[in-house]
This record gives sequence, C-alpha cells and structure tokens, in this order.
Amino acid sequence: MVDIIKTVITRVLFLDFIKGLLVTLKYTLSRSITLKYPDHETWIPYERFRGEHKLHRNEDGRELCVACELCVAACPTDCITVVPMEDETGRRGINDRVAKVWEVNLVRCLYCGYCEDACPTTAVRLSRGFELACTDLDGTIREREALLTESPIPEHYEGGVVVKAKYIRKLIQIKPELWKQKDWWPAKPGRSKKR
Ligand code: SF4
Ligand code: SF4
Repeated sequence: MVDIIKTVITRVLFLDFIKGLLVTLKYTLSRSITLKYPDHETWIPYERFRGEHKLHRNEDGRELCVACELCVAACPTDCITVVPMEDETGRRGINDRVAKVWEVNLVRCLYCGYCEDACPTTAVRLSRGFELACTDLDGTIREREALLTESPIPEHYEGGVVVKAKYIRKLIQIKPELWKQKDWWPAKPGRSKKR
C-alpha cells in the first residue's frame, strides 16, 4: 500500500522529471571540463607519459646516440632499426660513432620504454608527443632526422596542465603563469599529486 502511494505521488508531482532536470541544471552550471583541443587548448601530459621517441643531443649539440644497437636488442617488438656510421670527422671508436639510420615504427611500438632504459647514453627518450595519427603507413615510420631534438631535453618537466594551443604552435616557451590548471585528478588528502 505504501509503495502504491509513493508511486502515485511520484507520478502526480513529476518527481522523476524534476530530478532529471536538476541533473541537467547541475552540469550546466558546473565548471566545464571539456578541452577545446586542438584549436584552442592542448594537454601537456604528465612526466610519466611515454609518447613519441626523441633522439637527444648534449650541451654542445652533438648527437648522443652512438649506434650501439642496445635499444634494438631490448625492443620486444623489433620496431627499431639502427645502422651505424662514423661521424664527419672520420674518427673511429664508440664515442665518435653516430647512427646513419635510426628509425622506429610507431605502430608496432608498445611505448614500454625498454629502449630508453637500455640506452647507455640517454640518447633515446620517449617524449610527451602524442599526436601520432596519420593517414598512410609512411607516416608510421619516424626517421632520425625527424626525431633529433634541437637542444637537450630537460631531465624533469612539469606536466598535467592545459596550455593555449597557440603557445605550442608558435613554439613559445610555456611559463607556469600561462598554464590553465584543470585538476581532473586532484591529490587525495595525505597523498601527493600524480606527476
Ligand atoms: S618503447 Fe618499447 S616497443 Fe617501443 S621502441 Fe622502445 S623498446 Fe621498442
Ligand atoms: S639510441 Fe642509445 S641504445 Fe640505441 S643505438 Fe643509440 S646509443 Fe645505442
């Protein structure tokens, strides 16, 4: 009997309908968490993110890769190809070697980071680059020239922030005051924020 009265009251007063409207109203008034990607905003992933490979240089601009092929041996999917060559000075020895070919197949890659761990010179790093979509299979191969960085990659960097896309497009150095913090995964009490 009580259940019947409850059902009648709910239906007469349109309580379910009102509940639904309140949910809509709540999300209409709450802070938007939609990222206006890629035209207006871009996500800078956390430091732990493993994306596109980059080949690192030292402070003098010299390539750190010595074509030792340890990354090839460590790769579980056999997606790295390295062919060694002597550098332009003609000197020989492991420290003077550079790679003639260093390429990776981004489709076969698992982004496991084993190549990074195996590299004795910290030449290969998995960067924060996540825009890897392409329309043909040629776009899945990244060659040495495209992977070489202009300058050393910092050992640590901040991540987990949203920045305006124009700063990325114009390669402007992103300063913390330009970040737009969206705390989608805020730190829990007593625990530090994930990086
Ligand atoms: S991240 Fe893993 S799968 Fe990808 S190239 Fe490196 S070792 Fe191979
Ligand atoms: S990236 Fe590192 S492990 Fe791979 S060939 Fe170059 S120096 Fe060796």
